[in-house]
Amino acid sequence: SSRKDARRNVRVTPRMDAEYRTGVKRNENFSKLQAGYLFPEIARRRNAYIEENPDKDIISLGIGDTTLPIPDHIRSGLQAGASKLGTKEGYSGYGAEQGSAGLRDKIASNIYSDRVKPEEVFVSDGAKCDIARLQMMFGPGTTSAVQDPSYPVYVDTSVMQGQTQLFNEGTSQFDGITYMRCDASNGFFPDLENTQRTDVIFFCSPNNPTGAAASKSQLEELVSFAKKNGSIIVYDAAYAPFVRSSDVPKSILEIEGAREVAIECNSFSKYAGFTGVRLGWVVVPNELKYSDGTKVRADFNRVMTTCFNGASNIAQSGGLACLDKEGLDEIEGLIDYYMKNAALLRTTMIDLGFDVYGGTDAPYVWVSFPGRSSWDVFSEILEKTQVVTIPGAGFGPGGDGFIRMSAFASKESCEEACERFRKMYG
Ligand code: PLP
Repeated sequence: SSRKDARRNVRVTPRMDAEYRTGVKRNENFSKLQAGYLFPEIARRRNAYIEENPDKDIISLGIGDTTLPIPDHIRSGLQAGASKLGTKEGYSGYGAEQGSAGLRDKIASNIYSDRVKPEEVFVSDGAKCDIARLQMMFGPGTTSAVQDPSYPVYVDTSVMQGQTQLFNEGTSQFDGITYMRCDASNGFFPDLENTQRTDVIFFCSPNNPTGAAASKSQLEELVSFAKKNGSIIVYDAAYAPFVRSSDVPKSILEIEGAREVAIECNSFSKYAGFTGVRLGWVVVPNELKYSDGTKVRADFNRVMTTCFNGASNIAQSGGLACLDKEGLDEIEGLIDYYMKNAALLRTTMIDLGFDVYGGTDAPYVWVSFPGRSSWDVFSEILEKTQVVTIPGAGFGPGGDGFIRMSAFASKESCEEACERFRKMYG
């Protein structure tokens, strides 16, 4: 039979002495990725600690997952969506891959004040998946820039697509990606004058993890930089509703000229506690064109209709409720609660003498531990206070020397965590 296999050009290596392996070659891009994805790695370390210290009371200010229950009006929207499915008249199966017309309309009018057209809105199962689908659309030949530090999905999906070379141990960066350092010295906004051209610029504001939110004039600078270079900005606005400062736009599409250079991702995850429900959207303006003059929107439509089958109709019914007056008020209530936690974490760490950033337009507080390894600080905080945080280095080399604290916890947990920090550092 080995002769027959050879004729069929199938490489079969009998391995009687080891576990069975297929003859499929691993996608080499996956072997470039570092260790695990950040958040499962934090969970692994936390669980290992719990296993060794089963009676310790752990507080999580780690992964940015929402904790408050979904408020009444929004929940009734989810329930109405589920109930309809049990009736002959209300039942629906597959829907439009781009989302229901009603929800696209409501996002365009109630979030963007009709600055965008419903046809430019693509409803989805969340921003993380949308970033991956945008990368699939851009393909392996594209170059990208990211804020350093930033949400790890931009880099990891670039690696998966084959847009990069290997991870460089010397720089702790992937060769082939442009890391735009954002730190206290530049007000957490990249030095664009000294940034090289890339095809795509991932830009998250308010930023995860630094909590920095770009002002109107900074976004104008970003848009004109992209325009000058002929780049596409992928603007991640997942934390837009947390913005409190009056000079910080909630959408890049408020900036003149942005429609020719920007795509915006957004999500109900952090607005309404939909991290488990799963509902987001992307806006791809009609004016955004590739160098051959074709519309980016047309290709994204092709990605969504080919690789996605529409967001859950139950989730979309919840999304409609989010955008009612009552729903928007409920969202404000949730955000206000988390922002009070952020303020408490912020003032506590400032009182203890740390340099602290973020926490005013974002649910993340970014605490500086100059000259220290952030994984060491993470372990020290976990061991001494049983509080789970996130080491800044997990978001890129520019995050080393920082710890991210998430305000997505109960008020009581935040108070208790602050008490423990005062004991440890006071
Ligand atoms: N974008 C940023 C910046 C995030 O921090 C997160 C989640 O933490 C997401 C996107 C993911 O959003 P979603 O739950 O819609 O996939």
